[in-house]
Formats: sequence, C-alpha cells, structure tokens
Amino acid sequence: MSSQLSEEQNMMRQSCRDFVDDVVIPFIRANWQREWSMTPEDRLPPEILAGAEKVGIRTLGVPEEFGGIEIDKSAEVAVFALIAEEIARGDSGLADKLVQNWKVSVLLRQFAPRHLQEKWFKRLLADPQFLLAHCLTEPRGASDRWLPYNVPEAAMQTRAVKKNGEWIINGRKQFISNGYDAGLYVVYANTNTSVGMLQGTSSFLVPRDTPGLTVARCNETLGCRYMNNGELVFEDMRVPADHLLVENDALGKAGIYFRPGKIIQAAKNLGVGVRAFELASDYVQNYVQGGRILIKHQAVALRIADMATRIEAVRALLQRASRAVDDNAPDADTLCNMVKVFASEEILKVAQHCLELHGGNGVMLDFGVEKIFRDAAIFLHMDATVDISKMKIVKSMFPQTAGKYAGPEA
Ligand SMILES: Cc1cc2nc3c(=O)[nH]c(=O)nc-3n(C[C@H](O)[C@H](O)[C@H](O)COP(=O)(O)OP(=O)(O)OC[C@H]3O[C@@H](n4cnc5c(N)ncnc54)[C@H](O)[C@@H]3O)c2cc1C
Repeated sequence: MSSQLSEEQNMMRQSCRDFVDDVVIPFIRANWQREWSMTPEDRLPPEILAGAEKVGIRTLGVPEEFGGIEIDKSAEVAVFALIAEEIARGDSGLADKLVQNWKVSVLLRQFAPRHLQEKWFKRLLADPQFLLAHCLTEPRGASDRWLPYNVPEAAMQTRAVKKNGEWIINGRKQFISNGYDAGLYVVYANTNTSVGMLQGTSSFLVPRDTPGLTVARCNETLGCRYMNNGELVFEDMRVPADHLLVENDALGKAGIYFRPGKIIQAAKNLGVGVRAFELASDYVQNYVQGGRILIKHQAVALRIADMATRIEAVRALLQRASRAVDDNAPDADTLCNMVKVFASEEILKVAQHCLELHGGNGVMLDFGVEKIFRDAAIFLHMDATVDISKMKIVKSMFPQTAGKYAGPEA
C-alpha cells in the first residue's frame, strides 16, 4: 500500500501512526479501568485533540484559503481513508470525533455562505477542542431516510418553518456523533410536508448556543466510547435565514457528505481490524500452550490466515471504492455501500478471531482485546444498518424495481 502513496501522503500517515503509537494507544491502555466510569467531560483529555491538531489530522477538509491543509482533490477521499484507518487503529472513538470535522467541513465549503465559512472555519482552526456534528437521525424512521422512501409519511419529524425572516425549528435528533460536544451542528429538517423527503428536506447550520437548542443527553455506548454520542432537542429554535444550507433538496445534495462518509466508516473499521491482527499475531507468537507457541498449532495458524485474508479483502475493496468516489464514477454509490457493509461484517469476524485466540484473556478488561470487539460491533449500525446498506446496493443496481416503499400498515 505505502508504495502507491505520494511522499506527502506517506509522511502524513507516518506522523499519524507515530501519534497513535506514542500518545493514543498508551492513553487507552493506561485508562482501561476508567473507560466505564469517566464522565463525558473527561473522556478524552484535551491533550489528545491538541496532539491530533499538531500532526494536522483534526481539520482535513478545510479549504486551504481558510488555513486548511492542501490535499489534492482528486485523491481527497483516499487520503481521508488512509488517515481514518490509522487513527482508528489507536481508538475508533477518537477517529469518530475527528472524521466528523472532516466530513462536515466538506459540506460547509460546498454549501455555507462565504461569510459563515470564514467565521466557522476560523473558529474550528483556532480551537483544538472544537468539534462539528451532522444531525440526521431521529427517534423514528432513520432507515427510511437512508433508503430513501420518498413519500410524505416517511418525512422527517423535525420541522422548520420560515417566519419573519428566520427559521423556527422544532424536533429531536438522536445517536449523533459529537452530539454532546460539538460547537456547530448541521441539522436536517422537513420544510414541506406535502412532498417526499427528497423534495422537502432542508439543512441548516446551527451554532451550539442557538436559543431553543438543548443537548439532552450523552449516550453510553458499547464501543467507540471516547466519542460522545448525543441527543439534541429543538424547541422553537430560531435560526437566521442565512444559516440555511440547502433548501428542500438537502438529502439529494448530501452525497458529497455521505459517499466519503461510507468510505471513512469502512476505513475506521479496517483500522480496528488491523489492531486486532497486531494483537492476535503478537499473542500467538509468544503464548505457549501444549508445549509450543500458539501459532505452531495448525488451527490457530488457520485463524491468523483467515484474519489476514479478510483484512486484505476489505483493503482492496476500500481502495477500489475510494477511487470511485474520488473519480465520481457511476458506480461510486454502489461501491461505497458495498465496502461499508463488507467491512462491518468482515472486521467483526476478525475481531472475534482475536478475542477467541486470546482465550480467557480475550474477555478480561485489562487485556484490551474485548474493547476491539466492542468497537467493531458498532460499525454494523453506523451510517445505516447492514440490511439497509444491502438494500441500497440492490437499489442502486436495479433502480426501477428494487427498494420501493412498502407502504404503511393496512
Ligand atoms: C455509534 C453511532 C453513531 C452515529 N452517528 C450518527 C450521526 O453522527 N448522525 C446521524 O444522523 N446519525 C448517526 N447515527 C445513527 C445511524 O445512522 C442509525 O442508527 C442508523 O441509520 C439506523 O437507524 P436506527 O438505529 O433508528 O434503526 P432503525 O431504522 O430503527 O432499524 C431497526 C432495524 O430494522 C431494520 N429495518 C428498518 N427499516 C427496514 C426496512 N424498510 N426493511 C428492512 N429492515 C428494516 C434495520 O435494518 C434494523 O435492523 C449513529 C449511530 C450509531 C450507532
């Protein structure tokens, strides 16, 4: 892989890897006893985000003219994937935290008015603790939005109504990455109840201190615990007219967020798998059972081969899919859904092998292996479930027939 990278990409990856090895992994290992008792406020010390800032991986996606790092746009998604994998090798929660900044920055540079880009990119760059979040999911109908079922009854329940030159938004968003901590949110809301969601959903820029916005809770998650996933409530939240990003066809235009998003999910997932492989291969070459190190037992060796094969298969599809997204190829939608779902299933199996090869130690918290398994499980549900992702693949291949709305209960 590294031979195909430019010198600049190799350097970026190496400094990210050094940061992960020197700072992130030692932090995770040192704090294994506190993972379940930490408050959301002290889940990741400020030094970790400051360290991410130092190696230049906190604000990818920010245009150069606003102080961002120059990345060749024809390979931007491939670079996102490369760096997301490296961070997730250390901790996938930290990777979640950072990639939200990259993905939302892509939306801002595309749709926000220039004066708001100037304002918010400046804030993002000036404060290493500043985070961004993307708020789509609601308590009802999340999968309907992914498919999408383009009928009025599947529309978002969060509503935005224009009154006296500003938008009044009411509703609730849940399961939002960085939802608890972010300083700036992109929020989707219904702006026309009489049409399908592809014609009647708008997106808005919402600063955290907007009147009517409440951060209702921080979720306690199985894995990726170092990212504070949150729930937001909007009660007559007033958003200025110029904070509208896309009117009515926000979902149709959000592909520039969703496609890199699927690639990044798969890449983070791959990073978790790589870490599982490192831990397992180290263990089986040192731990003795039946008079010889584990890897000399053939059944163990077969599992290592299986792990390596699955990882390489995910990597190969990831490279193909990220190229398709960077090239805006006709099959980009299909491929990015394929790799997202393939990675989530394959890497969970890799993590299970890792857990089993460690025997009882695999489920002991101080060994750190069970964390890998928990982190891997989360990917089944992020950016659409496995089944919904598979339906999207079929729908993109057979648009005339597959994935039609089944209709409400009779
Ligand atoms: C860790 C984490 C981070 C997240 N971060 C964000 C974020 O930053 N922003 C954001 O907006 N969202 C975020 N999400 C939400 C995520 O996108 C949703 O969880 C996901 O889309 C699934 O929605 P749901 O949980 O409501 O499941 P549901 O839609 O309620 O699905 C429940 C089950 O029903 C199945 N199902 C649903 N509809 C159908 C159908 N028509 N046919 C067949 N089966 C169906 C699903 O496959 C699933 O098995 C996050 C989720 C997690 C777990």
